[in-house]
Amino acid sequence: MPNFILSNGVVVHNSTRSAIIESLYQRNYVKDQSLQVTDLGLKTVETLTDYCPEIIDEKMTKKLEKDMELIREGKETKEKVLDKAKHHLEKILKHFKENELKIGKKLSEANVETLEKESVIGKCPNCKEHDLRIMFSRKFRSYFIACHGYPKCKTTFSLPSNSLPKPTDKVCEECKSPIVLMIRKGKRPYDYCINKQCPKKEEWLKQQGLIKDVPKTKRAKSK
Ligand SMILES: [Zn+2]
Ligand SMILES: [Zn+2]
Repeated sequence: MPNFILSNGVVVHNSTRSAIIESLYQRNYVKDQSLQVTDLGLKTVETLTDYCPEIIDEKMTKKLEKDMELIREGKETKEKVLDKAKHHLEKILKHFKENELKIGKKLSEANVETLEKESVIGKCPNCKEHDLRIMFSRKFRSYFIACHGYPKCKTTFSLPSNSLPKPTDKVCEECKSPIVLMIRKGKRPYDYCINKQCPKKEEWLKQQGLIKDVPKTKRAKSK
């Protein structure tokens, strides 16, 4: 039997679970390690409940799982089940299309709000006036942190690549710099102090397995 788990009454295949969680983060529906729902996540459910409740109704998923079980048992044919599902989806999509503009407007408002809120990581340590924000550089195809007071304040911090950074309310115990949550494909999210000169950085990088332990003699020579 494949690996299934039951989550809030909905049967989810285990291998799809991590993919689902990853896209929840990427689309800003959730934040933090404990998967807290964002305003955008709430607004999305709210908007769909108002305009297209069938989409978030878990009854359909449950029914489909049941039908798939019937196929496995040979009590139902693939073609019949697919036909039924197709028919049902067509109805939902028609309803969605009719409300598309209203749904789009509501969600884009919530999206802009959430993006603004979810990119701020704290006050700039240099100008102490503007917010530090997570930005994306198209040129270098990576995330970095910059002061919103640019061009007056040119404070920036680089971030490790291959990770999706999200703000947290935490500050580093050692240097009091803001901590961001880094989300890596297929790995556990981890806390990252944005200060490159943080005294704890080397120890931390080792803990994360991001650098190998350098023998003391070799390290002395390379300095
Ligand atoms: Zn600044
Ligand atoms: Zn630190």
